[in-house]
Amino acid sequence: MAKIIAVTNQKGGVGKTTTSVNLGACLAMLGKRVLLVDIDPQGNTTSGIGINKADVVHCIYDVIINDVHPKDAIADTAIPNLKIIPATIQLAGAEIELVPTISREVRLKKSLHLVNHMFDYILIDCPPSLGILTINSLTAADSVIIPIQCEYYALEGLSQLLNTVRLVQKHLNTTLQIEGVLLTMFDARTNLGIQVIEEVKKYFQQKVYQTIIPRNVRLSEAPSHGESIITYDPRSKGAEVYMELAKEVISYE
Ligand code: ADP
Ligand code: MG
Repeated sequence: MAKIIAVTNQKGGVGKTTTSVNLGACLAMLGKRVLLVDIDPQGNTTSGIGINKADVVHCIYDVIINDVHPKDAIADTAIPNLKIIPATIQLAGAEIELVPTISREVRLKKSLHLVNHMFDYILIDCPPSLGILTINSLTAADSVIIPIQCEYYALEGLSQLLNTVRLVQKHLNTTLQIEGVLLTMFDARTNLGIQVIEEVKKYFQQKVYQTIIPRNVRLSEAPSHGESIITYDPRSKGAEVYMELAKEVISYE
């Protein structure tokens, strides 16, 4: 059975998509069977891993709204062990369309249950909100990875996120855990980054990954080539740190 991890933080631009794509790719390179689930209507994971949205026949929207079998929505990527259920802009309507439906919070959970046995890891790239799509993700997941950008106000909004996690634990998914907190876009040239690391470690303690993701321009270039860092520039610092993170994630299996 796969371990299902939601990569989540309602703040945009903190590294959710970069982490989903590159952690997924590195886990796959290490021999794990990985499914990426793009549940952000922006579909950045989808395009970032090289899927042309115009060619998508079934996306995650069809799976959670139209009861399409998730197997029929799974697409290949350039990395053999790495598959994806893509998102298209269609998904933007889902927040509203799900409101009147029965068991709207457990739709993704039920769908992923059907393909769980095919993978070792399922990584869900969440949208930048705490709406029904994120609730579906937290309900489907065994655990969450929370990326936090090393910048001012890093901890802002986190109490809201943790409160949502607690509500989901209470009402929908009692076994949901925090897999780890990931510090991203660290800039070693500033004191600020070091302060943020200390602050986050004080707050989350041993939940913080030892691997810290630095700012690396190759990481920001890779998506426009439709590639993960591990194929785009395997010798870059970005590839090195996401490979380290993948090993750290595996070590907690
Ligand atoms: P989110 O999914 O949380 O909105 P993204 O992963 O899309 O965040 O990252 C936001 C932007 O920052 C993107 O343009 C991405 O390429 C860039 N980025 C993310 N992580 C890094 C990094 N470690 N170094 C440099 N750029 C990064
Ligand atoms: Mg994103």
